[in-house]
Amino acid sequence: MTEKVVDIGFLEEKEAWLLHPRFFPSKVGGKPAWLELKNTPAPSELTCKQCNEVMIFLCQVYAPYEERDDAFHRTIFIFVCKNGGCCRPNSSNNFKVFRSQLPRKNDFYSFEPYEENKNEKFAMDKWPKLCNVCGVKAPSHCSKCKKEFYCSRKHQIIHWQKGHKELCSNSNEMNDCNFIVTEAAKSFLFKEWELIVDEEDQEEVKNVDTNQEMEKLRQLIQEKKAGTMSDLNESELEEYTGKMPEDKVFNKFSKRIARHPDQVLRYDRGGVPLWITAQSDNIDIPNCPYCNEPRQFEFQIMPQLLNFINIGIEINSIDWGVLAIYTCKSSCNESPAYKEEILIKQDLSN
Ligand SMILES: [Zn+2]
Ligand SMILES: [Zn+2]
Ligand SMILES: [Zn+2]
Ligand SMILES: [Zn+2]
Repeated sequence: MTEKVVDIGFLEEKEAWLLHPRFFPSKVGGKPAWLELKNTPAPSELTCKQCNEVMIFLCQVYAPYEERDDAFHRTIFIFVCKNGGCCRPNSSNNFKVFRSQLPRKNDFYSFEPYEENKNEKFAMDKWPKLCNVCGVKAPSHCSKCKKEFYCSRKHQIIHWQKGHKELCSNSNEMNDCNFIVTEAAKSFLFKEWELIVDEEDQEEVKNVDTNQEMEKLRQLIQEKKAGTMSDLNESELEEYTGKMPEDKVFNKFSKRIARHPDQVLRYDRGGVPLWITAQSDNIDIPNCPYCNEPRQFEFQIMPQLLNFINIGIEINSIDWGVLAIYTCKSSCNESPAYKEEILIKQDLSN
């Protein structure tokens, strides 16, 4: 039996302006490059179920349904709570996923693709203001200068402390930083990358000693753990890694990712996730609440992504094994413009 072709995603550095919404990017970190610009989720729709703070942008995947005009442009957005303490084993309470789609002819973008011209202006004045710090819809603004906008009091304070205090009274220009990470937010948001998606190699990696590959993966996870649980001593770490599952699922997982050890995404719409460990229960994916059709698996985010985004901004950090995203099978076009979808977080057994 031949294997179904799966697309996989890698990260590459890219100049920030090339990740603007008009280029319909897939990307990780920075601010969200929203697709529909008028009805982006309100901060209240992006709060963490554990701590109630506004989540920050993790990544987005541009995944149109080529055959459908109403999904000519289509992007899935993932948000996560920045507070590592909200991360619980096999719980997705600290995540949110949204799907947005547009026909080719729409109110926001030209019918023909944009040229890569850095100086081209893209007017945002028609659309609601976005938070200076995180890029989420901003209902409030700086009451002194009225030129800076915020999703929440917390982000206003961050901006004030990181420099707006000095600049507020003499800022006479409107900031054009809707999608560009501001200096104030650099240490607050995840590092920004372009997400390149390409076909997975069909070949099994030859002459790979599975044990060796598993050892590598174990090390990767150990490093990750060492970076995040900095207070663990060596013997505790050993104990932790000693508990790594040697099960068939994990074996299959590590063998498959050995073809491309740097992959951060596996895209297989209508397929099945590559789980990291045996699923304890059968997962029950609720139907799409907007059209009542079933949802299907669309893609998964791999644990490798943690190595690229966790740039020392948190001690008590975020973690996952696999993040599997399920979306409406018919990719329905009901309102709202941003439809919530389902994320299943699977962790290595603990
Ligand atoms: Zn939280
Ligand atoms: Zn914000
Ligand atoms: Zn101000
Ligand atoms: Zn639906």
